Amino acid sequence: MAQRRPLIAGNWKMHGLKADTGWVEAFAAAADTGACDVLVCPPFTLLETMGGLLSRHGLALGAQNCAEEAEGAFTGDVSAAMLADAGCSHVIVGHSERREGHAESDALVRRKALAAIEAGLVPVICVGEHRAERESGQAVETVLAQLAGSLPDISATQLVVAYEPVWAIGTGLTAGPEEAQAMHAAIRAAFPGADRDRLRILYGGSVKPGNAAALMACPDVDGALVGGASLDPDAFAQIVNLAS
Ligand code: PEP
Repeated sequence: MAQRRPLIAGNWKMHGLKADTGWVEAFAAAADTGACDVLVCPPFTLLETMGGLLSRHGLALGAQNCAEEAEGAFTGDVSAAMLADAGCSHVIVGHSERREGHAESDALVRRKALAAIEAGLVPVICVGEHRAERESGQAVETVLAQLAGSLPDISATQLVVAYEPVWAIGTGLTAGPEEAQAMHAAIRAAFPGADRDRLRILYGGSVKPGNAAALMACPDVDGALVGGASLDPDAFAQIVNLAS
């Protein structure tokens, strides 16, 4: 962790209206971001509004998904270049809610990550096993296979990996620090580039102020991808302060 600056990312999912953007001031008043990068990923409709507010506090803006194509007749899709144009620096790809709810394959996630890189964005590539895979001892194998299929041939400094066990997302269950550390170490060891020590690997899955410190203390956990708790500016600030 010494050579990697922590990153705490908030995934608002399909939450948030213009009336909720006071979140930024409330968060900034409660957070110490001196030693930690902070990324907020609101829904598409709030990108422009939130981007202006976040940048005043040195906070980064990200989106939750992008199209694999650069442009064209793809009704309802949003390209990575459009996200960059709206002020994003990052985009989440391969979140389990998209892999499952929208049948996104590893190959599609890989193409989306490439589209992000081509548009100058940092993809946050999500991977994670199901409960049954963990219980049958297949968790590491599953996650490494997902990663191999989802990872474009790029340097560790051009992307972020988020390890999000599916059984921990939005459930209140979380991987214990030993489970998280073992998976993060396996991901790092399997990363193909020689610069793997520079790869930031976030943990995601019911991260809250009460469990963030133990997770963040793991040597290969470089931050968190936070869903539910990122909607509460005080809870998100507490998590950021624990990582700083
Ligand atoms: C997520 O959406 O990526 C996530 C980890 O959600 P939660 O923190 O609510 O489990």
